[in-house]
Amino acid sequence: MKSPVPDYLQAVIDSVRSLTGGAVADYIPELAGANPERLAIAIATVEGAVYVAGDSKERFSIQSMSKPFTYALAIADRGLAEVAQHIDVEPSGEAFNEISLETGTGRPRNPMINAGAIAAHSLIAADSAAQRDARVHDFYSRFAGRELALDAELMQSEQSTGDRNLALGHLLKSFGVIDQDPVAAVNGYIRQCSLTVDVADLALMAATLANGGVQPVTGERLVDPLIVRQVLSVMTTCGMYDAAGDWLTTVGIPAKSGVSGGIIGVLPGQVGIAVFSPRLDSHGNSVRGVAMMERLSRDMNLHIMDAARPARSAMRSRRRVRAGGENATVFELQGDLVFVSTEALIRNAVDNPPDTELVVFDLSRVDEITDVARRMSIAATERLKADGKRVVLVDPRKIIAPLTLPDGTSPATLDSLEELEAGGSP
Ligand code: GLU
Repeated sequence: MKSPVPDYLQAVIDSVRSLTGGAVADYIPELAGANPERLAIAIATVEGAVYVAGDSKERFSIQSMSKPFTYALAIADRGLAEVAQHIDVEPSGEAFNEISLETGTGRPRNPMINAGAIAAHSLIAADSAAQRDARVHDFYSRFAGRELALDAELMQSEQSTGDRNLALGHLLKSFGVIDQDPVAAVNGYIRQCSLTVDVADLALMAATLANGGVQPVTGERLVDPLIVRQVLSVMTTCGMYDAAGDWLTTVGIPAKSGVSGGIIGVLPGQVGIAVFSPRLDSHGNSVRGVAMMERLSRDMNLHIMDAARPARSAMRSRRRVRAGGENATVFELQGDLVFVSTEALIRNAVDNPPDTELVVFDLSRVDEITDVARRMSIAATERLKADGKRVVLVDPRKIIAPLTLPDGTSPATLDSLEELEAGGSP
C-alpha cells in the first residue's frame, strides 16, 4: 500500500500554484535572485516520518526561521530569567526590522524581531564570535539531523548591506542590552540567517519542537520541554511579523516565517510543518506559504484552539472482585491521567464510596500521568486511608509508583491484578 500523505501534500501544492501575488524579497541583493516559482512543502511527525512534495530538494536560507532556535539556545545557556532581562516577550505588531525597544530600558519587544534576535544571538555562551557562530551552526544542524551548509555569498551580501541591523546592534549596545561588539553581534546574527535548509530540514527542526525538544529521528534531546514551551509561546504571539493575530485566528499554530519565503509551523505533540515559496506579501510572509498553511490547518484540524477530543474519565471500569480471601473494589484506569480525567475518577469514588476495605487502582492501561494528577492521586489516597481503606496499585510499568504519601508510606504495588486475585491479602 502507498501512503496517501504525499498525494495529499501534492494536492495542497497544486491548489496554490496559481497564486502569483507578492514579490521576492530584494532588500538583500542575493535574495532578489530567488526563483519565484519554487514551491515546496514537508511535514515531519514526532515519530520521525517525513513527507515532502514539490521542489523539496531546493535549498534556501533559513533567515528569520532561525530566531526560535537561537532563542532556545540562549535560554539553555543563560536560563530564562537572565534572557528575560534582555529580551521581552510582547508582540510588537510591527515589521521584523522595526526599532521595537522598550522605552527606558531599550529591551527588544520579543526575540522574533531582529532587535530581539540580535540580542538572543549575543547571549549565546562562547569565548569568541567564531565559537558562537559554530555553536549556533551545530545546534541548528542537530535539529535538522544533518550538517547544514552556509551560503557565504548571501551572508556577505547581507553583511555589506545590513545598515539597519547594524543600527539596531549599536542601539542595543548603547542601552546595555548587549555587551559585546555590535558589529560582531550583527554579523553573527546574519550568519545564522544564512544557513541553508530544505523543507524537510525545516519540518524536522519544527518536529523537534513539536516533540518537546527531542529530535524525532536521532532521538537526541536538544532542549528541555520548558524551553520548548517558552519558544512556542513566543512563536504563537510574535512569529508572523505584524500579521500574528491574523495568523493565530486563521491558521492557529505556533509558526515563524522568513524572508526567503519559508514558514515553519509546530503542532505540539503531533507534527512539524514547513512550506516554501519565495514571493512575499506586504507583511513579509510567503503568499503561497500562508495559503498552504491555511489549507493544512483546515484539512488536518491543526488549529490549537480546536479543542482536542475532551479528556474522558480515566475510569475504564469499576468492579468488585474476590482477592486473597476478601472483597476488593477495583478501579481499572486507562489513557492519560490529566486534571479532568483524574477529577472524574475521584468524583466517582466520592459520590459512590467503595464499600470494601481493599481498594485497587489498576494502572496497567494508563499511558501517562501529569504532575497535577499525581498530586491529586496522593491526596485521594490519603483520604481513602483516613476512611479506613487499604489502597493497592497495579502498576507494572511504574507509571505512578512509587506514590509516596506525606507520611512517608506508599501503597503496595503489584505487577498484575492476577497477583492480587491469586495471592494473599497484600
Ligand atoms: N536576514 C534577515 C534580516 O535580518 C532576516 C529577516 C527575516 O527573515 O525576517 O533582515
